[in-house]
Amino acid sequence: MRASEATRMYFDRAADQLDLSDNMRRLLLTAKREVQVQIPIERDSGELATFIGYRVQHNDARGPFKGGLRYHPQVDLDEVRTLAALMTWKTAVVNVPYGGAKGGVAIDPAQFSLRELERVTRRFVDAIHDLFGPDVDIPAPDMGTNADMMAWIMNQYGKYHGFSPACVTGKPVEYHGIPGREEATGRGVGSLALKLFSRLGRTIPGTRIAIQGFGNVGTHTAKFLQDAECRIVAVGDATAAFHNAAGLDVLELLRHARTRGGRLEGFAGGDRITNAELLAMDCDVLVPAALGGVLTAANAAAVRAPIIIEAANAPVEPEADALFDARGTVVLPDILANAGGVTASWFEWVQNRQHYQWGINRVRQELDRILAEAFEQVWQLSTSRGVSLRTAAYMLGVGRVGRATVLGGIA
Ligand code: NAD
Repeated sequence: MRASEATRMYFDRAADQLDLSDNMRRLLLTAKREVQVQIPIERDSGELATFIGYRVQHNDARGPFKGGLRYHPQVDLDEVRTLAALMTWKTAVVNVPYGGAKGGVAIDPAQFSLRELERVTRRFVDAIHDLFGPDVDIPAPDMGTNADMMAWIMNQYGKYHGFSPACVTGKPVEYHGIPGREEATGRGVGSLALKLFSRLGRTIPGTRIAIQGFGNVGTHTAKFLQDAECRIVAVGDATAAFHNAAGLDVLELLRHARTRGGRLEGFAGGDRITNAELLAMDCDVLVPAALGGVLTAANAAAVRAPIIIEAANAPVEPEADALFDARGTVVLPDILANAGGVTASWFEWVQNRQHYQWGINRVRQELDRILAEAFEQVWQLSTSRGVSLRTAAYMLGVGRVGRATVLGGIA
């Protein structure tokens, strides 16, 4: 199933509950602008390479477009379109004053040098600099991109428009970023997981967690949950996956990955397992924190975890979601579970505009406050309407965007 069809199904379920008209559905589903550009660069070898870059600006009824930039070989317009719409609902669920957007370049960053990636990033900015900016659309890191790339974006944008640190978030702390942004998505995933455990009446210490993905989101989720006395029993990335029933040592995993360009391959503190075994692990909580579409009709029945936290965007396909729903597997949906990143991006944007910097404690405190509020609202809606957490989160997000659309006036 195409990613856009999957999220459309989730949207429709919420729209039915909200009794939205067909016209309003069409308006909310259609992206405001979609851009595709060519990105030619000269490789270190002198050879020419050409990539395709996308930016989809889905909806700005509640504020400027906001969304990450993904570098991955499978990036295409359908994926970017889907992720842009997810951002619209996500910013609304946590009630930060943004709309939704997403960007991507179809490239495998592992195959290119840092200098080549810098050229790609700067050329992409050259192609779209008139279409984004602090009050228009604010990119951020996503899969395959990081803080250094956000610094290049700010620097290149400044060549056209002058000093504008708020044109992009997720920047390095030494270059107009803020402490606490990098960890925010994983920290948010962890803190929301704890709130869910508590609502479900589970004790936290010893809770067995399996995490797919050990990048920005996966590492910080693992660290946060281990600090909360959970047991990380399995972790995997694109290169390898490992299991240890007694608990993997997250700091050792991090040390190992740091010396190998972020890769887990070769880790000695656990038994090697396959990705499929990781997803079907005997554990209490499964956290997909890598790609979308990893839990499908084909493998959902094998999942043994009674709780799934969607740290990645769109990891559960609708057929799998229906099966989880039917057998009582609780799914904390992406548009709430990984919203810590965009929330901290909002803090960064606010501080850039004020030329001020908060300390890490204030960032964490504000992040926890906003996520706790959103979690409670979604939980209450789910309970009062008898719908899944996903449908409740969509109802909250779609409802807010619909209301802002009406308030702003359509004619
Ligand atoms: P990242 O590039 O830092 O890490 C991605 C991880 O996934 C890496 O460990 C990689 O090896 C692994 N991976 C890739 N392909 C895999 C495969 N086939 N099997 C197993 N593992 C695989 O990316 P990230 O920023 O951590 O993002 C991960 C997910 O979280 C994405 O879905 C992204 O959209 C979502 N997300 C990220 C943020 C953020 O702030 N970075 C915010 C919200 C949502």
